[in-house]
Amino acid sequence: MAEPKENPLMEKIVSLCKRRGFIFQSSEIYGGINGFWDYGPLGAELKRNVKELWWNTMTRQRDDVVGLEATIIMHPHIWKASGHVDTFADMMRECPLTKKRVRADQVEEQSGTAISFVGCVSKQTLDSILVVLQPTEQDDAGRNALVKWATHIVTTESMPLEQQKALAEKIMSETKGDVKKAANVVLQMHVTQMLRDNSCREPFAVLLAAGKPPESARKIAAEFYGARGINEPILLGEQAAKVENSPDFHPESRVRLGDPRPFNLMYKTQNGPVESDENVVYLRPETAQAIFAQFKNVLDSSRVKVPFGIAQIGKAFRNEVTPRNFTFRSREFEQMELEFFIKPDEAVEAISGSVTSASQLATLDPQPNWGWEAWHKYWVEERIKFYEGIGLPRTTLVEYWQKPEELAHYARATVDILFKFPFSKRDAQGELMGEELEGIAARSDFDLSQHERFSGKPMGVFDEELRAAWGKLDDAKKAELAKRYHDARLKYFIKTGVEQAKAEKDAKEDADGLAKGQYIPHVIEPSAGVDRLILALICNAYYEDQMPDEKGKMETRVVMKFHPRVAPIKVAVLPLLKNKPDLVKKALMVRDLLRPHMNVFYDDGGAIGRRYRRQDEIGTPFCVTVDFDTLGEKPELLDTVTLRYRDDGKQDRVKISDLLPRLLEKIR
Ligand code: ATP
Repeated sequence: MAEPKENPLMEKIVSLCKRRGFIFQSSEIYGGINGFWDYGPLGAELKRNVKELWWNTMTRQRDDVVGLEATIIMHPHIWKASGHVDTFADMMRECPLTKKRVRADQVEEQSGTAISFVGCVSKQTLDSILVVLQPTEQDDAGRNALVKWATHIVTTESMPLEQQKALAEKIMSETKGDVKKAANVVLQMHVTQMLRDNSCREPFAVLLAAGKPPESARKIAAEFYGARGINEPILLGEQAAKVENSPDFHPESRVRLGDPRPFNLMYKTQNGPVESDENVVYLRPETAQAIFAQFKNVLDSSRVKVPFGIAQIGKAFRNEVTPRNFTFRSREFEQMELEFFIKPDEAVEAISGSVTSASQLATLDPQPNWGWEAWHKYWVEERIKFYEGIGLPRTTLVEYWQKPEELAHYARATVDILFKFPFSKRDAQGELMGEELEGIAARSDFDLSQHERFSGKPMGVFDEELRAAWGKLDDAKKAELAKRYHDARLKYFIKTGVEQAKAEKDAKEDADGLAKGQYIPHVIEPSAGVDRLILALICNAYYEDQMPDEKGKMETRVVMKFHPRVAPIKVAVLPLLKNKPDLVKKALMVRDLLRPHMNVFYDDGGAIGRRYRRQDEIGTPFCVTVDFDTLGEKPELLDTVTLRYRDDGKQDRVKISDLLPRLLEKIR
């Protein structure tokens, strides 16, 4: 379904982002570039906070996850192994006139009168034939007959050469030397060929809005066929038909779209000075593959063992067909991805005697008997907790479990965490349905297996615990687990195109390996987009409320209610007046006291109420005002300041010495 074109709330948010320096259009002074966005001073701070919070939560606060920072351009075989070269594509349709593309599933529906043509023939050709034939009938009738013949020709398949020859021989024998008859047939064939060579058989249609004359469609069609090399085209087979809510016409040109074709989303470039097919490389479309490619190096160089994870934050690039919804679908964006490697269920069962399924989970504290289902559920919960911890309430999120038919062939389960963006579609009850913020996929052992096959380097691990446990199993259990593992491996090999005999041999080897403590780890992948999260935080923070101004009169205030953890500026320090050196000195002292611990903004310009509003609008959760009481005008208030809270505008009197611990408690 097409999204609503206008969204007043989004318009306000986009405008605030520009006005206050959160997000700007990239290259704006040159008219911008579609799908690319820059973060201004406040956006850059917000983004940095979000990435740091993710990094700390996912790596530093855990014993079982380590980090990685890989290059954007990698060996192109990585993208062959991952499947991106062959299948990372969106179905798209192209306007044959303007060459503009749209995603096949996102074409806006349109109505009107479609004027269509089956093709065209060159006027010059038609004229030259008429000169030779010198029709005895009136000129127009001869011409019309010829146009009819041309229409027939462009709509029927041309005759293969062999058939033409056979036909010519047949004519010669049938006319038994009647030269006149034979000459007529040969002439007819010649004319046919001329028309064929100077016509275009591509059908074309354009949708006219109500009241527009067909002549405008003919003009556009002439432009289209002109671009196909037919000058002064005579349009053939014109028809008009009413069209209602059709997804077949380009929303801008209103020309009928071509058939859906896959369009690879990877940006290609050349590595090194020589332009050749061997030097083609890609800007990574996701950060995950580097983690798989470096899996062995990380394992061998760090004190980690399965289960453990590798986390990475970095840029990704996708040549999205239709970037839209502000930064939601960009062409350059950042991802925060974790690959969490776990033992295959057969290994868990051999070691622990059984595997806990998701429905039996009594605790979300990782346990040795957790299989992929439990780990997957654990990560879904961890990630939702993360979002709650930075100010996205659970009610703004949707946990969407992909249906079996939506899953990639290697995925066992995928949960998309959706955020209810203002531009999300609504369900029958009018509730926002949400758009993907993060996907959490149980990807089996597909990725490492692919890299093992394509690189020829082993990606398996040796698990001493498994080897020891296996020795203690009875034969029936050994056989059962080995068979299950064998069957899963065989399925993977067959699905990825390995020929049957080799697949069976390799699957057997893998099952034998399991008995010796070897396996390729499975993986759970929580994969989030930084930019989408920033947009979600901005949309979630935007409020308009009523607050009294300096004179107590109620006014509408725009306030960004960011969670203090992510807020770009944590505290603004404001001297009541800027022309009182003692006030300024004290305020600068407070600023310097706080600055090593948080992002502080010092503002001495304008009325205090206006300064509060400026901070509200950029989401600064606290304002500290230094006034005459701070200097001891009321002796009992010496060295105290006013601490103002953004959300309700309430104020506390706080000792300067208590300020830092008070604020730190709130922003950490
Ligand atoms: P979508 O279906 O919306 O195109 P996806 O399922 O292709 O997303 P993944 O490949 O799972 O996305 O990427 C993981 C995350 O990266 C997404 O959940 C999203 O947050 C982010 N992401 C993906 N594509 C884009 C994009 N074009 N712009 C911004 N963020 C993106």
